[in-house]
Amino acid sequence: MSVQQTIQKPVSCEGIGLHTGRPARLTLRPAPDGFGIVFQRSDLGREALVQATPENVADVNYSTTLAKDGVEVRTVEHLMAALAGLGVDNLLVELEGVEVPAMDGSAAPFVELIRKAGLKKQQTPRSPLQIKKPINISLENRGIRLVPSRTLKVIYTMTFDHPLLGEQTVALPITAESFVKEIAPARTFGFLKDVQHLRELGLARGGSLRNAVVIGEAGPINGPLRYRDELVRHKILDLVGDLYLLGRPVVGTVIAYGAGHLLHAKLVNEIQRQLQEEQDRSGVEHRAASLLPPSEPLRPLPLPR
Ligand SMILES: [Zn+2]
Repeated sequence: MSVQQTIQKPVSCEGIGLHTGRPARLTLRPAPDGFGIVFQRSDLGREALVQATPENVADVNYSTTLAKDGVEVRTVEHLMAALAGLGVDNLLVELEGVEVPAMDGSAAPFVELIRKAGLKKQQTPRSPLQIKKPINISLENRGIRLVPSRTLKVIYTMTFDHPLLGEQTVALPITAESFVKEIAPARTFGFLKDVQHLRELGLARGGSLRNAVVIGEAGPINGPLRYRDELVRHKILDLVGDLYLLGRPVVGTVIAYGAGHLLHAKLVNEIQRQLQEEQDRSGVEHRAASLLPPSEPLRPLPLPR
């Protein structure tokens, strides 16, 4: 049976946010068993905490934003994907700023950072979330389906409105090894024709050729791509990060078509709703506190300073 993990020592990085363009410093700190992934907006004070849970998802427009009691953390998904991929269960994520730094637009720099810190095994067994019956979510011609299987697998299809990209499918089992090798380096992307619109919405202000694949009429203007199907791989990266808001490794097969943060969030909510229903029926309280509305405030951490 696998046990929960944190990291050995604090590690930091800094950069600018993809959407806000604002600088931020990120420090990952070890946290005790059962703590989960908790963000601390250190620029707002030590009590400015927001836990990575489905209840705290505040916005899913182009990225995933967490917020609680006025404490907001934007674009958490690439960091969350790295934590899911490497199996980090408990972590205090200190952020001096509103948005997680974009770094190179992928999860690879976060994987490097976690490896630099080293993983540390803890006492408490992990409780994987085994999917028992199929879940279907659809929205117009987009959809996402989750079916039972013995390990986590993803089959993701995107049809791009671009002659050079067309329809692409990536199918992969998700393990720590496959995540690091096949998914983590895939960068976020945008279409040149949408940049103006995104900026008008106040988004992509920190986006540049250094932290996103930008697709023009003739293809990527800052190529070469890291994978032929890098864009779909990045969608899987986002999915892995969004699923990890459940706070436990999900075991099932995800089949997605044209999905994104909104459908990922709907799937997460439906998984959680079914779990809650199951728990209510059985009357058994589940060990994973993150699946229930928090009954007690977060324990203050004895933080090394
Ligand atoms: Zn992304």
